Amino acid sequence: MDSMNKTILIVEDEEKIGRFLELELIHEGYSVLKALNGRDGLEMALGGKADLMVLDIMLPEINGLEVLRRLRKSSDMPVIMLTARDEVMDKVAGLDGGADDYMTKPFAIEELLARIRLALKKHTANAKDNKNLLTCGALTMDIARYEVSYDGSRIELTHREFELLRVLLENKNIVISRDTLLEKVCGYDYMGETNIIDVYVRYLRSKLDDVYGIRLISTVRGVGYCIKD
Ligand code: CA
Repeated sequence: MDSMNKTILIVEDEEKIGRFLELELIHEGYSVLKALNGRDGLEMALGGKADLMVLDIMLPEINGLEVLRRLRKSSDMPVIMLTARDEVMDKVAGLDGGADDYMTKPFAIEELLARIRLALKKHTANAKDNKNLLTCGALTMDIARYEVSYDGSRIELTHREFELLRVLLENKNIVISRDTLLEKVCGYDYMGETNIIDVYVRYLRSKLDDVYGIRLISTVRGVGYCIKD
């Protein structure tokens, strides 16, 4: 089940609603954390144990919009806001403030459960996308799209230049020998020139270092190459 191992944090001062939500979520297979005021809710959200937060707006201590604002400084955890029917402006403010979704009270529990599933799914998909990105400073390599850019501008690389850069970025801060690079970039059965890696490094430097005034790839004399953060 999707809900396996996912923890939902409920921040709601109306204990009846909180208890109802808790039972429904547990029934669906989620683990549940609860807070009765904004201060505790924010602390628990920042504690990192929850995968998604259901956040009421009208809360004691710190209201829901302020909880959201403070959370977003350091976390992209999915948040679904709960609003009363007459809090239209709060809905807008919540979405502007980085809420993923909102529900108006009273709500149908099936709809809230559906929105929770959707928000968790979207979040997981985004996290997967980010795994296809390698970065170093302003340099970004999108492996899925086979694109490299520096500060937003595209850089055209040949297949082997791309592969060499990829290996170096995947092993950031580690010195990699020419032999290892040769095997990874050209294949273990490569029989051509042994200085080919030096040649590709030179090409990469002419497309990156020379154009953007940086020193991306360091030469470690007698050993190999390295990209440092
Ligand atoms: Ca409330």
